[in-house]
Amino acid sequence: MSTKRDIRALSKEEIILFFEEVGQKAFRGKQVYEWLWSKGAHTFDEMTNISKETRNLLAAHFVINHIAVDYFQKSNDGTIKNAVKLHDGLIVESVLIPTKSRTTACVSSQVGCSLDCSFCATARLKRMRNLNPDEIYDQVVAINKESNLYFNRPLSNIVFMGMGEPLMNYKNVMLAIEKITSPEGLKMSPKRITLSTSGVPKMIKMLADDEVKFNLAVSLHSAIQETREEIMPFAKKFTLDDLKESLIYWYDKTKRRISYEYIVWKGINDSQEAIDALVRFCCYVPCKVNIIEYNPIDDGIYQQATKEAIEKYIYTLEKNRIPVTVRRSRGKDIDAACGQLANKQ
Ligand code: SAH
Repeated sequence: MSTKRDIRALSKEEIILFFEEVGQKAFRGKQVYEWLWSKGAHTFDEMTNISKETRNLLAAHFVINHIAVDYFQKSNDGTIKNAVKLHDGLIVESVLIPTKSRTTACVSSQVGCSLDCSFCATARLKRMRNLNPDEIYDQVVAINKESNLYFNRPLSNIVFMGMGEPLMNYKNVMLAIEKITSPEGLKMSPKRITLSTSGVPKMIKMLADDEVKFNLAVSLHSAIQETREEIMPFAKKFTLDDLKESLIYWYDKTKRRISYEYIVWKGINDSQEAIDALVRFCCYVPCKVNIIEYNPIDDGIYQQATKEAIEKYIYTLEKNRIPVTVRRSRGKDIDAACGQLANKQ
């Protein structure tokens, strides 16, 4: 691997400073920054409004690390899964999910995952490393290109629901979102971005303090402490009480409602007691519940609950005026659905 610095790890100010130090105009720095981020240059030679001499100077000091889509698979429902190779050879997956009116990018934030949800394939990979801001940003750029190419429209939404726990890679995820939303990046509205977390209370409070403008989704799956610990062992440390407190804090500061992701499994959370606990949890802050179809990842320890059990959830939530939607799996045939991302290739 090269010992030269990755120029994309530098802020705009740092690039400008580099030019000032070598006796060139600050303006050059701005031009280079634009090439790196809004124009997505992979080589210095692509920077055609920069002199050959300056390009050589840059190449002598820096490299441009970037991701490469190693291979991609297309599901029969139109979903596309990318295996994304990072500069050090590690691989993460990202998914493009098309519907009639939108294209959503589902992006990864870590190689593997810091947490240990027992129903999720990614959790079994363990965390290898955090993704850099540019590696997160590049996944979005790649999916935007695919959306234009295959669906004739730009990307409309982004969800941080790929591999990893975004709040365990807080700084880099924030920097990536800053670039995605900035005029020098992709100019996307934060309202079209959703960060999904397994529920790290301290970090949810930090999001609120940082006054972020994107949406928050929490993978709740159970509002009973004991059950949640069973399916998400990290919940012993990040308890429902602390989660509740952090969500109240989030709502007080942002005034934006929260989405709870919820899978209903046979024999785990399909009882009336589980439904009642969820309804009580939903009273703490304005929210909606998104019931997710379970995508089996193993030999059947976990099984999706019956249609009747799910309907009971919907009925009870609606009776209590809690908005509820059911999300059908997309891209199941290519292992691109929620919880299935595990670099099987
Ligand atoms: N770490 C984050 C984001 C990645 S997982 C989080 O937990 O929210 C994205 C969503 O997929 C989460 O709601 C997660 O609980 C869900 N999920 C994990 N495994 C799944 C599976 N096998 N079937 C369906 N959804 C799953």
